[in-house]
Amino acid sequence: MNYFKKISLSALIIVTASLLQAKESEIKITTINVNNGVYMLMGQGGNIGLSVGEDGVFMIDDQFAPLSAKIKAAISKISKKPLKFVINTHWHFDHTGGNENFGKDGAIIVSHNNVRKRMSKEGFIKAFNKTIPAAPKVALPIITFNDEINFYFNNEEIEVLHQKNAHTDGDSIIFFKSSNVVHTGDIYFNGFYPFIDSSSQGSMNGIITSVNYILSRINDKTKIIPGHGKLSNKKELISYRDTLIILRDRMQALIKEGKSIDEIIAMKPNADLDETWGKGFLNPETFLKILYGVIKDNMK
Ligand SMILES: [Zn+2]
Repeated sequence: MNYFKKISLSALIIVTASLLQAKESEIKITTINVNNGVYMLMGQGGNIGLSVGEDGVFMIDDQFAPLSAKIKAAISKISKKPLKFVINTHWHFDHTGGNENFGKDGAIIVSHNNVRKRMSKEGFIKAFNKTIPAAPKVALPIITFNDEINFYFNNEEIEVLHQKNAHTDGDSIIFFKSSNVVHTGDIYFNGFYPFIDSSSQGSMNGIITSVNYILSRINDKTKIIPGHGKLSNKKELISYRDTLIILRDRMQALIKEGKSIDEIIAMKPNADLDETWGKGFLNPETFLKILYGVIKDNMK
């Protein structure tokens, strides 16, 4: 019996693995010329930001490990120089999955202190009941910072700033000051309800504070590379911020009225917004469950 169980389990693993592979082989990396040597790559997982120029290649986030070869091929079309730095906007596997491959190639991986801390040990994402194994040494950031770190690279001043307890407790946003581009990491899901990782100490108020800070730093010409979704701009980020405030206030009011999560789901409190924002990564119900947990934690 056990023997058959083992057989069927390994068969299932092989089937699942080959399905994943098939899917990944279909994924294309799209390169978007953002501005002045700054590019955005879209594939699967978090959006990649690139600065290319005379000093080399500077990359923000690296999606999933099986995509590394495709990402390298896409980079080689816009620069023949070596990849020198990889910045991780946060620890989630859809932003750091390529670290091992790029680390082996000699890129210097840089992040906030908490990104390295979380990647160094087994992690857990409560919202998806998902355990993440500790990353191998070569995949870990070798330079970490607490508040900010600056790079002077490709005639660009690149400012990497920690944002407190927003999507996680280790988020960074990156300003390319000469090119007027900002990469927001997962502070900004363009066009979708955002994921807030409460098991990594994320908070809705932290996200709103961070978005307001980004808005205070940008102008109508700024190009915004969001963590997920299409290349964006200030107008769209304002609409996202306004939506976040509505979502937070509604959930706070419902919790204060003593409503349970099941009652809240049944009420469809965001029916007016679900059509626009609820068709991405998180459906309306999953988002309500996540937000309920996050706001309850905040109100404690
Ligand atoms: Zn994330």
